[in-house]
Order: sequence, then C-alpha cells, then structure tokens
Amino acid sequence: MYNFLLPKEFITSVYEITPEKLEKLGIKGIITDLDNTLIEWNRHEATEEIAKWVKEMERAGIKVIIASNNKEARVKRFAEPLGIPFIFKARKPLGAAYLAALKELQLNRNEVIMLGDQLLTDIMGANRLKLYTILVKPVAESDGMVTKFNRFVERRVFNALKRKGIKTWEEKE
Ligand SMILES: [Mg+2]
Repeated sequence: MYNFLLPKEFITSVYEITPEKLEKLGIKGIITDLDNTLIEWNRHEATEEIAKWVKEMERAGIKVIIASNNKEARVKRFAEPLGIPFIFKARKPLGAAYLAALKELQLNRNEVIMLGDQLLTDIMGANRLKLYTILVKPVAESDGMVTKFNRFVERRVFNALKRKGIKTWEEKE
C-alpha cells in the first residue's frame, strides 16, 4: 500500500545532497522541483546558498534541471540567472516532463534523482518511471501550489509509514 507514493529517501533540505553522495549512487543528474523544494513558493530568486549548491553540483559534473508545474515567468526568473535548464507547466505527476528532462540532460533513468516536496506530484510521477526519488521537507509551511487535498493524502501516507516503522523526515528532526 502506498508504495507508488513512497520516496527512496527523506531529507530535511537539499543540502543533504552532495556530489560525494551522488557519486556513490552512480548519479549524474538532478531533476528538481522548484517551489518549496529549492526556495519558498513566494520567493522569486535563488538564495545565495541555493546558487552555491547548484554551482557545486556543476563543478562535480552533475547536471541540474528544474521541472516545475508553475508558470513560465516564475520558473524562468529563478533558473535563468543560474544558467540551468528548466521545464515549466510540467504537469507532474504526468510523465512527459520527466522524460523531457532526461532528454535535455542526455541521461538515462538510472542516472538521475528526482527531488521534490510533494508525494502526489513530484514523487508519484517519478516513481512510475522508476527514477530514484527523494522527498525534501518543504522549505515553507504554506504553499500556494499545494491543495489541502494533497496535504491530507500526505498526512495519511506518513501515518501509514509510521505504523510500518519507516522513518520519514518528521522523525529525523
Ligand atoms: Mg513543490
């Protein structure tokens, strides 16, 4: 039950993702959500730390692409100054955007991780394509893009995982 929603890992922030960690996993690329994964949903540009994190990945030869369900203007404003490719109106959990991201990065499914803060979009869609999924604790509490229904389902999944003894970032703190 809920296996299709289950990420491979739970992390409290993207800074837990390091080139060393990815190298060990044989990972060469990162497909990442934007809102509440990299920055707060209502912040427009990358923080200094996020910009540094992206640079660190690139220096290590790891490619980064944004796949966001948000509008072009929003995603572009974030990604362009960083010089990274982006996909807007991605319609996650549908598969097309993940496949487009793989094509853009010129990587295979087993060479990327998918980072996101939502089970029903970021994680579910990537799991279906057998990508390595990592659920990031939302950067901010409220998210203009998240419906109450999504959070309701997530709460149920987390409770089910807790009963099974699977640790989420809720227990990591
Ligand atoms: Mg998000």
